[in-house]
Amino acid sequence: MSVPVLILVTRPVDDESEGSTDARTAPFSQADPTQPHLSVLDLGATRGDGVFETVMVSRGDAPAIDAHLDRFVASAELLDLPEPSREVWRAAFDAAVAAHPPVELLAVKLVLTRGVEGQDAPTGWILAQPGRDFSRERVEGVRVVTLDRGYRHDVASTSPWLLQGAKTLSYAVNTAAIREAKRRGADDVIFTSSDGFVLEAPTASVLLREGDRFTTPSAELGILPGTTQRRAFALLEELGYETGAVRLRSSELGRADALWLVSSIRRAVPVVELDGVAKTVDRELTARLNEYLGEH
Ligand code: PLP
Repeated sequence: MSVPVLILVTRPVDDESEGSTDARTAPFSQADPTQPHLSVLDLGATRGDGVFETVMVSRGDAPAIDAHLDRFVASAELLDLPEPSREVWRAAFDAAVAAHPPVELLAVKLVLTRGVEGQDAPTGWILAQPGRDFSRERVEGVRVVTLDRGYRHDVASTSPWLLQGAKTLSYAVNTAAIREAKRRGADDVIFTSSDGFVLEAPTASVLLREGDRFTTPSAELGILPGTTQRRAFALLEELGYETGAVRLRSSELGRADALWLVSSIRRAVPVVELDGVAKTVDRELTARLNEYLGEH
């Protein structure tokens, strides 16, 4: 088994305040991933107070890195964290990829936390390791249940402190929802709002097909703007299909011709069952989507 590559991002934010990290210190450095580096007082660990991204690197190529950096910066802003230095994170990301032995698929995680309690200095690191092989799920698909997330569709504007739409480190709710799906005999979840709109999966965006039109729930619904969904739409548009980000009632999920969950590492997995009802799978298009998402 290969050893992950760890980069400590020692100058993670554009901090111009006096007394900030000496500009002469290296902005990042490689470290031994088998050694401890994180303080038990780090607010990322004790409160899940931070943001992250997981970036797919396919045969050395990271087609969505800019979109991930955009979302990383946007998430940090939603949490009132200082602005991540794009330049430093991009260079640290490239260094992590270059330091890892070549593999088919690398999953590179970027993490920025509020830092050690009382120190007012964010903590940042990047971990690069081989991505899990999801080739079976891409063909066999997933069984999905819809679960109420408990917030209205407009929660991002009415209650921004709930941080909907930020990719925070607090994924305990997302993993609890997946455990609930398993208790119900399924594999994954599509969240709905308390007032009946389709949102997203705990770790993926939702894609629907109705005839020649493909849609995804709009990011205005307090969900993550998916980088994979965006790339999938680029292909679908190239193929001549219509695409759109919309508000969908949960009842429309059942009427869709086909459904997918899409995300960076798993790519496009077809939904084969929704709330116990079988869904049709477009195997050819799914294969085409996955091929494209591994390359673009
Ligand atoms: N929505 C949530 C809640 C996620 O956690 C993720 C990815 O982890 C996505 C959507 C899909 O995002 P991306 O396609 O950028 O991986």
